[in-house]
Amino acid sequence: MPIRNGKKYLRDLDRTRREIWVGGRKVTGSVTEHPAFTGIAKSMAALYDMQSEPELVEEMTYTSPQSGERVGMSFLQPRKKKDLESRRRMIKRWADYSCGFLGRTPDYLNSDIMAMASAWKFFAKGGKEFGDNIRNYYSYVRENDLLMTHTLINPQANRSVSLSKQDDPFLAARIVETRREGIVVRGARMLATFPMADEIIVFPSTVIRSGTEDRPYAMAFAIPVSTKGLKFICRESFSHNSAYDHPLSSAFDEQDAVVVFDDVLVPRERIFLLEDPDRANMLHEATDAVVHMSHQVTIRDVAKTEFFLGLMSLIADTIGIDQFQHVQEKIAKTIMVLETMRSLLVAGEAEAAVNRWGIMTPEFRYLNVARNIYPRIYPGLKEVIQQLGASGLMSLPTEEDMKSDVRNYIDRYYVAKNTSAEERIRLFRLAWDAAGSSFGSRQELYERFFFGDPVRMASALFNWYDREPYRRKVRELLSRQGGKT
Ligand SMILES: Cc1cc2nc3c(=O)[nH]c(=O)nc-3n(C[C@H](O)[C@H](O)[C@H](O)COP(=O)(O)OP(=O)(O)OC[C@H]3O[C@@H](n4cnc5c(N)ncnc54)[C@H](O)[C@@H]3O)c2cc1C
Repeated sequence: MPIRNGKKYLRDLDRTRREIWVGGRKVTGSVTEHPAFTGIAKSMAALYDMQSEPELVEEMTYTSPQSGERVGMSFLQPRKKKDLESRRRMIKRWADYSCGFLGRTPDYLNSDIMAMASAWKFFAKGGKEFGDNIRNYYSYVRENDLLMTHTLINPQANRSVSLSKQDDPFLAARIVETRREGIVVRGARMLATFPMADEIIVFPSTVIRSGTEDRPYAMAFAIPVSTKGLKFICRESFSHNSAYDHPLSSAFDEQDAVVVFDDVLVPRERIFLLEDPDRANMLHEATDAVVHMSHQVTIRDVAKTEFFLGLMSLIADTIGIDQFQHVQEKIAKTIMVLETMRSLLVAGEAEAAVNRWGIMTPEFRYLNVARNIYPRIYPGLKEVIQQLGASGLMSLPTEEDMKSDVRNYIDRYYVAKNTSAEERIRLFRLAWDAAGSSFGSRQELYERFFFGDPVRMASALFNWYDREPYRRKVRELLSRQGGKT
C-alpha cells in the first residue's frame, strides 16, 4: 500500500474503533467530527496530503526497498550524510506547517522505530523472535504509513519508591499473565500525546532506570489503538472552533491521554523486549533511537524558534516598540537561540558517522546539548511575548465582537502603528494562543518535559560527557606552574 493522503488518514481514523474518553464521555461517533479532534485531524490530514503533492513527493517520500512503492521519508534508514539531509528537509517541511507546535507529526515516532529496527540485533540478543518482530513491525508501519503514539512513563503516584513497591503492584502497566499467544498487560501508563494514532508503542523510559525487581514492568511492544481493553483518558480539550479567536489551538491541540491497559493481550509477534530490565534500561541509547529522535526534535525546535522570532518582530513593528533597547536585546537573544539551535543541528549532521548498526547517525554530542537546552530556553521565548505584548494581549476582541455593533469602536481604538485594528487583533490573538492560553501553557509544559525530566536528562549528560580532556587541561596548566595534581 503506498503513502496515505489526508482523506485516507481521516477515513482510517474514523474506522478504527478505539476507546477514548474526553470530558467524562466516551467518544462513540466519528472521531473526526468530535469537537476535541476535528481541528487536529484536519491538520494531520494536511500533513499527509503534502506527501502526494506532485512538487513535494520527491522531498516527502522515497521508494520502498521492499514494495517499490513511495513511502514516508522519515522511515528512511540513512546510510549516507545526504540521507540525513533528505530526512531533515522532509521533517522541516512538516514542522513548518504547524510552526513547530505539533510534537507528534508522524516523523517523530517513525524516526524512533526506524532506528530501533536498524538495531534489530540488539533486540535479537534478548531472543531471536524479538529481532524479527521489530524488523517486521517497522516494515508494517512503513508500508501502511501508519501513525504511532507512544507511552514511556508510569503513573505519578509515588515517585519515592520503585514500580514494584507502589501500594498497588498493578498501578503501572505490567505483565499479569504469559500465554502461548502473547502476554496480558494490566495497569496504566502516562502520557500518550496524540491518541488519534493507528498504533501505540509501549517502550521503557529514556531516563528512568529499572531494577531487577521491576522485571514484569520491563517490556517493549506495539499494538493497534483499537486493541480490546485499551482505554485512552484524555485531558480537558484546549481545542476551539474559531480559527480567528484561537489560531493555534483550533488547529494544533494534539491531546494527551493516560493509557489504561485493562488486561490487554499483546500478541507474541508484537513484543520486542520482555522482562529484561537491563536491556530496557539501555534501549534508547544502544539503538541510537534517542539520537534520531533528537535530530527530529531539534529540527522542530528550529521551526518553532523561527516562529517566535517572527512573532516578536511583528509585535515590535506593530506597536512601534522596536527602537527601545530592551526590546532589541530580547529579540537579539532570540536570534542567538535560533542560531544556536541551527548550529547544533548543522554540527550534528556534519560530524555524523555510521553507527554500529550500519546507520548514518548524527553526532549526539550536539543534539544531546540541543535537547537539554531547549526545555530551559523555551519558557523564556514565551515570556518575551508577554513582555512585549503587555496589555495588548488582553485587548483581544473575539470573532463575535468583530461582527457586533462595537465594531466601529474597535476599528477606531484598536489600531496600531502601521496596521488596521483587524490585523493587529489577529496578530495579538496568535501571540496569546502561543504564549498565554491553555494551549500556550501546555506547549510550555510539553517543551519542558516531553523528552523526559530535564533534571535527569542533565544528569545523564553529566555522566555521559567525556570531561577528562578538560580536567587534563587544567592539570597541565597547574603542572606548568610547578604544582602537583
Ligand atoms: C505535554 C506533555 C506531553 C507528553 N507526552 C508524552 C508522550 O507522548 N509519551 C510519553 O511517554 N510521555 C509523554 N510525556 C511525559 C514525559 O515523558 C514526562 O513528563 C517526563 O518524563 C517527566 O516525568 P513525569 O512527568 O512523570 O515527572 P515526575 O517523574 O513525576 O517528576 C516530577 C518532579 O519530580 C522530580 N523528580 C521525580 N523523580 C525524581 C528523581 N528520581 N530524581 C530527581 N528528580 C525527580 C522531577 O525532576 C520533577 O521536577 C508528556 C509530558 C507532557 C507534560
